[in-house]
Formats: sequence, C-alpha cells, structure tokens
Amino acid sequence: MEKNKYINRLEKQDIKPTAIRLLVLEAISNKKEIFSLLELEAELGTIDKSTLFRTLTLFQQHMVVHSIDDGSGAIKYSVCSSNCNCSISDTHAHFYCLHCYKTFCLDKVAVPDLKIPDNLVPISINLVIKGFCEECKKFAT
Ligand SMILES: [Zn+2]
Ligand SMILES: [Zn+2]
Ligand SMILES: [Zn+2]
Repeated sequence: MEKNKYINRLEKQDIKPTAIRLLVLEAISNKKEIFSLLELEAELGTIDKSTLFRTLTLFQQHMVVHSIDDGSGAIKYSVCSSNCNCSISDTHAHFYCLHCYKTFCLDKVAVPDLKIPDNLVPISINLVIKGFCEECKKFAT
C-alpha cells in the first residue's frame, strides 16, 4: 500500500520505479524539512553519493523535487507537491534562517508577478528571504 503510493508517484512523473529510486523517494517523502545531498547521504548510507546525486537530479528534472539555492553553498532539495509543474507560477519563496541555517519552503508565498522584459525567456526564479525563524527570532537585533 505505502509502496504503491511511491510507485504511482514515480510512474506519474515518467520515472521508471527502480528499487533505489523508491528507497530515495520514501526517505525524502518522510522529511518535513528541506535537505541537502550530504544529509541524505548520511541517512541512506547504503547508496553511494553519485547514485544519490543522479537520482535527485532525475527527480528534479521530472518535478518530484525542487532545488533551492539559499546562498549557503550547498544546494538544498524539497519534495514538490503532487500537482507541481515547477514552472515559475508554481514557484514559492524560501526562507533561510541566519542563526540556525535552516531553509524552509514558504508554500503559501508565491513569487510576485515580475515584469520581465519580453525579449528574455525566464526558466526559473530563486526567491530566498533571509532572516530569523520562529525559534531563532530572539536572536534578531
Ligand atoms: Zn516542483
Ligand atoms: Zn532559525
Ligand atoms: Zn520549496
């Protein structure tokens, strides 16, 4: 039952559900927070880093995860909602905490309708708000 859910999700996104992909999808689906490749590697010790990276890249191309460049130097990933097309209109803002260095999806905060010149073809937008999270706001000055 649980397993079928993950198989369906991959097939829906045109990904062949191999054992490793299912393992990775299950691990990331249970995450509440954004994760980096390193964190996932530490968790899934049995899968080597390059396989993991290839899997995440595939997931990203097929809109299972989106990546966030929060400026910390490491690309972070988060699972997309099931109806996400990863288009600019599906893109939401992210929040990066300057104290605990956690990054959050702000699912409800859409990227504003930016007036981009007609001669340009935008593919993605990276909107990261930096500040202090709920836990850390006592450190804000
Ligand atoms: Zn997406
Ligand atoms: Zn924080
Ligand atoms: Zn997000």
